[in-house]
Order: sequence, then structure tokens, then C-alpha cells
Amino acid sequence: MGNTISPGVLRLGRVSESKVSRDLYTALFTCRKNSSDFLGQARVDAKHGVLEIEMFNDVFFENFSVSRPQVLEFLNEKILKLMVAAGHILPLFLEPVATMETADLSSQIEDESSVQAHTHDLVAILSRLNRDHFEGKISAKICWGRESGSKNNRSFRFGSYDHRSKQIRIHPRLKQAFVPESVLELTVFHEMCHQWAPPRRVRGRGCYHHAEFKSKEREYPRYKEAREWEKSHWKKLLIPPAFKRD
Ligand SMILES: [Zn+2]
Repeated sequence: MGNTISPGVLRLGRVSESKVSRDLYTALFTCRKNSSDFLGQARVDAKHGVLEIEMFNDVFFENFSVSRPQVLEFLNEKILKLMVAAGHILPLFLEPVATMETADLSSQIEDESSVQAHTHDLVAILSRLNRDHFEGKISAKICWGRESGSKNNRSFRFGSYDHRSKQIRIHPRLKQAFVPESVLELTVFHEMCHQWAPPRRVRGRGCYHHAEFKSKEREYPRYKEAREWEKSHWKKLLIPPAFKRD
């Protein structure tokens, strides 16, 4: 599917570091497509392994026969490679990713059959965490995301939260037996924190994991245990279950 998308000629431009943190920066890039140059920006949160792509002109997407999220996903991968090649992205970027937020989650559809097949009840986890740690104030829907069936390259998105629809999605690979309960719970907790401590603009830039967010996230009782596991095992999550031999 991805192979059929041609992104045009990509050129990486100026990189601006954030004044807040060395882990946050933006890079401009141009994409020459059908004889037009389109300007885009990559926002990088190196600490959390998050790379977000934004195109400044929506006309850009009219050059493709596939959906906007597919174009963005493809661009994301290409830009990531360019940035690694240019030395902008340090090995830190390859560390575990708490989550990645994208504005476009429309391509992700729940897989009802696998929800029922699994004993982990996301709604129960969310309700319990809400009662014990959020004063019952979180109002959100939760479901498993869809298994893409393909290998992730460099990062793994544990979950996501869409502020508009108040929808939390949890990566279906967290259903696997080797994933500790604390990791699944922390992922749900993390996404709930996004509603509790919404993104802020920090020096003109959207910041999701700001100080207040992080301090709330650490209230999860098994935070350290879960993070330790993520650090040493996250690579196992890059591979779809069907690809594994064991
Ligand atoms: Zn997050």
C-alpha cells in the first residue's frame, strides 16, 4: 500500500530548536510534487520519540489518490529517514515512545472481534483509574486500535487520544500475554492525562507532555515498573503478532 505513494522530492530545510528543551525542535521541509513546491514542518519531540508532520497548504493532499492520513504517515516515515541521515535525530529518538498524538485518527477503526476475544477490559481499567486517580472527572471513550499487520520501523505508538472526539485508542499489541498489566494501565493512564492536562502552547508551539502532564502521569502507582519494562521491551512491540514464530 505504502509503496504506491510517491511523496515527490523531499528536501529538509532549516531546523529550529525549542528554547524550552533541547528535545523539542522543528524542521521545515519542502516537497516538490507535480511541479509545485509545498512547504511543510516536522515537529520533533526527541525525548518521546514523536515526529509530527504538518503541511501548510491543504492543496498538497489533492496530489494523491490515497487518504490524507496515509499521505501523512508515509511522509512521516520519509522525513524520519532524512532526519536520521542528516544527524538531527539522535539515538534517543529510538527510545520507547509513550504515545503519539495525531490530529488524524480517522484511518483507525476498531476491531470489534479482537476486543471481545481478549480478557483485558479497557472500559473497566479506565473506570477504575478514573475513580482512583482522576476524581471520576475523565469523560472519554476507549477502544482497541486496529492492528496494521505491518512492522513498525522505529517507534511504537502505545495509545492515542483524540481531543475532539474524546476517544482513547490503545494499540492492540498491548493485548499480548508478555505485556505486563502495569504497561497497559499506564498507557490508559497516560491518555487520560491528556484530557486532565490538555496541551499548551509553549513559545508558540503545541506541547502535549508539559510539566503538569508529566507530574500527573507519575501519579500512576506502578509508573516506574511500567516505564522500566517499556525501556527494555518496546522493540518486541514493533512486530505484529502474526509475524512472530514463537
Ligand atoms: Zn501523550
